[in-house]
Amino acid sequence: MPRDNIILQCTECKERNYVTTKNKKNTPGRLEFKKYCNRCRKHQVHKENK
Ligand SMILES: [Zn+2]
Repeated sequence: MPRDNIILQCTECKERNYVTTKNKKNTPGRLEFKKYCNRCRKHQVHKENK
């Protein structure tokens, strides 16, 4: 299965807060999640980091 580990990085402080996997075939674009950032201490948009 072509699932790759990806790192989700806070767009505000650039902290790398989450690691997840994705299937490249189903999800060709860059992922974007709104998740809690410990450094910002609030929810921020986290983007896939390569
Ligand atoms: Zn942050």
